[in-house]
Amino acid sequence: AKAGGQGRIEYFTPALGADSKERTRLLHGLHRAFDHDRLFLVYQPQVSLTTGEVLGVEALLRWRAEDGTMVPPDRFIPVAERSGLIVNLGTWVLRTALYDLGRLHAQGFARLRMAVNVSAVQFSQPDFLDILDEALRDNPRVAPERLELEITESVAMVGMERVAALMREVQSRQVAVAIDDFGTGFSSLSYLDCLPADRLKIDRAFINLLDTERPGARIARMIVPLGHQLGMKVLAEGVETESQANILRELGCDEAQGYRYARPMPLDELLSWLQQQPP
Ligand code: C2E
Ligand code: CA
Ligand code: CA
Ligand code: CA
Repeated sequence: AKAGGQGRIEYFTPALGADSKERTRLLHGLHRAFDHDRLFLVYQPQVSLTTGEVLGVEALLRWRAEDGTMVPPDRFIPVAERSGLIVNLGTWVLRTALYDLGRLHAQGFARLRMAVNVSAVQFSQPDFLDILDEALRDNPRVAPERLELEITESVAMVGMERVAALMREVQSRQVAVAIDDFGTGFSSLSYLDCLPADRLKIDRAFINLLDTERPGARIARMIVPLGHQLGMKVLAEGVETESQANILRELGCDEAQGYRYARPMPLDELLSWLQQQPP
């Protein structure tokens, strides 16, 4: 979303190049899938660039259609956002991820952190904090400091002041907040300084430039010190190669996530993967 003139908001949702008929079809399918438990979560590890230790996982939503094919989230999330279904869907994701984190903790990974994506639509619901509190209350085995909410700059459409206040409310519960996909879209640097985030996630598009001479490569390198200057931890997303990891390590980037380390996995697979990691 982009703030237009006179405080208007314009939405740019490339995934919705799909016409309205296609959107309606997707939305019906998504409702059915939600009602029939055909949605599930996969978890992708986040590792320390200094020690290699697995510090957290990010929950990512998956939809297996009736014909067995996977519908990518980049296609159905925008549809869910436009229809408002994302609110209930997002609540389910949050509660399921917290429940699974409880299981991971019980299996001996007691310090593992869980990152959950929160859509701007969801974050701006008047009862968002109630939903968060209830999810935490229903999962008493999980300490709130092990939960992190990932929000994108599109929350800015809610209004900077309100977003900052909401973030502080979240943090007062010891829950952390990360700025997701940093460097994409229409971000301005000044908004970053207004948001009290704990972590900055550098978008994969920038990570891809790191070991090249292409335009943007130098900017990509500056995001790590930028985040640190603003008092945030910095995590690189979509790290695929050793060369990218090395550059990030030299830059002092704290953590990385990407195929170089592991793909997103269902909970049982994640558990055996974690058990194979060196202590
Ligand atoms: P995201 O939050 O930026 O998630 C990271 C995406 O990068 C994931 O795509 C992940 O599978 C992919 N990825 C991770 N490592 C690599 C890598 O090394 N190389 C490449 N090429 N890709 C990598 P995924 O799972 O398809 O999700 C796409 C987007 O859908 C997410 O982007 C997020 O914006 C949205 N999404 C997924 N689950 C949820 C959810 O539960 N709630 C909300 N609101 N959005 C979600
Ligand atoms: Ca994310
Ligand atoms: Ca991201
Ligand atoms: Ca993304």
